[in-house]
Amino acid sequence: MAEATQAPVVEEVKNCPACKKPLKKARRFYRNGAYYCNNNCFKKVQATAKEAANEAAGKAAENSSKTSQA
Ligand SMILES: [Zn+2]
Repeated sequence: MAEATQAPVVEEVKNCPACKKPLKKARRFYRNGAYYCNNNCFKKVQATAKEAANEAAGKAAENSSKTSQA
């Protein structure tokens, strides 16, 4: 007898962007469009993102002040 072929159900395992641990479905923590393993990891990523943004903004400001001075 022929049974309908079922596509194998592959559970998507994502990794936490902060600590790179694989996230299991029941334990993941959803924040701001991404999954983390807990609030601590979310804050960690937020902090690094903020730092990077500040650095970029600082560089841009530095460049503009340099050009206006010269
Ligand atoms: Zn994590």
